[in-house]
Amino acid sequence: MQTTQPDSNGYFGEFGGMYVGEILVSPLKTLQKDTAAAFADAAFWGEYQYLLRQYVGRETPCYFARRLSEPFGKTEIYLKREDLTHTGAHKINNTIGQGLLAKRTGKRRLIAETGAGQHGVATATVAALFGFECRVFMGVEDIRRQKPNVLRMELLGTEVVPVESGTGTLKDAMNEALRYWSGVVDDTFYVVGTVAGPHPYPWMVREFQKIIGQEARRQMLEAAGTLPDAIVAAVGGGSNAMGIFYPFLDDDVALIGVEAAGRGLSTGEHAASLNCGAPGVLHGAKSMLLQDKYGQVHEAYSISAGLDYPGIGPEHALLHQSGRVRYETITDTEALEAFGTLCRREGIIPALESSHALAQAFKEAGKFSRLLVCLSGRGDKDLQHVAEHLKDRL
Ligand SMILES: *Cc1c(COP(=O)(O)O)cnc(C)c1O
Repeated sequence: MQTTQPDSNGYFGEFGGMYVGEILVSPLKTLQKDTAAAFADAAFWGEYQYLLRQYVGRETPCYFARRLSEPFGKTEIYLKREDLTHTGAHKINNTIGQGLLAKRTGKRRLIAETGAGQHGVATATVAALFGFECRVFMGVEDIRRQKPNVLRMELLGTEVVPVESGTGTLKDAMNEALRYWSGVVDDTFYVVGTVAGPHPYPWMVREFQKIIGQEARRQMLEAAGTLPDAIVAAVGGGSNAMGIFYPFLDDDVALIGVEAAGRGLSTGEHAASLNCGAPGVLHGAKSMLLQDKYGQVHEAYSISAGLDYPGIGPEHALLHQSGRVRYETITDTEALEAFGTLCRREGIIPALESSHALAQAFKEAGKFSRLLVCLSGRGDKDLQHVAEHLKDRL
């Protein structure tokens, strides 16, 4: 049995835990109890499934990409189409779940942090759906870079709070959100965007994202009559990967996570927390993270904003250590190439994050006969960015 569960203190092996100020310990323990109670309640899952079906548009297809597979001979590539969900990525699976928890625990307001703005938009969406007030913390540098998502959140009725400290990016927004939450825990639910943060979040978010793998497992058996030989997913904080991997952990299926190698691992400009990081504490948990020799968190870089997170969820740190999941890296250039290939061969414009998984799948194709790729999101948000890069290369 390889399936990983956190211990009662929220540790996956040596990783995880609750590294927060004293004032947050008791609210987090309460949240853990409330979450466990909700997870044991069939009515809670009933409402979650109803909304995933009627509002998010699940189940998403598991599509055999025939033309994409052609150049690889016998290898069949299947795409789990999270890009077809409402708001265009897997993040909504999690925010729907946490929104329901907030409702169940009597909160009236949501807060979240966001980097590129994708999780902010998914949280703002759910706030509008359930009628919560909502504030999203965002670094000033990210606000400047991600104007369309700031506008989306504002249209949805969310207040975007600029964070000036540090480099004005994701890690500063996370610190500020945790600090702010300490003062308002009584009536406010903190919606964490990936399988990171203090216990119980890594476990809770995985439970909300494992729907991806549960559906894919059933769909592969229906479509191919057998499980895939390998599954490939991009890893930022690790939620789409954990979601698709989790239901296959006990199976004889190769699991491959893909970190962003950015401009190349040797340049230092990347987001490969597992391949190049070291154990440390960030965002309330012990995990692997990018840091300098003094233990200061090192800014991550990737062409895809959703992957440039300097840490990674603690469950991935354990799966890396145990060897159950193999973690590879893909550069900006390789991801852009895979992006173009999917556009032209299948008529699907993928997110740049998902393009990292595709690029790795192309490298693996010779080794496996049935590959499943998590297409975590659609690429509309990336068009401007891609256009600039393609211009640079002409
Ligand atoms: C945010 C995001 C990711 C990375 O986040 P994970 O928690 O690692 O899944 C990947 N793909 C898309 C489309 C995203 O929006």
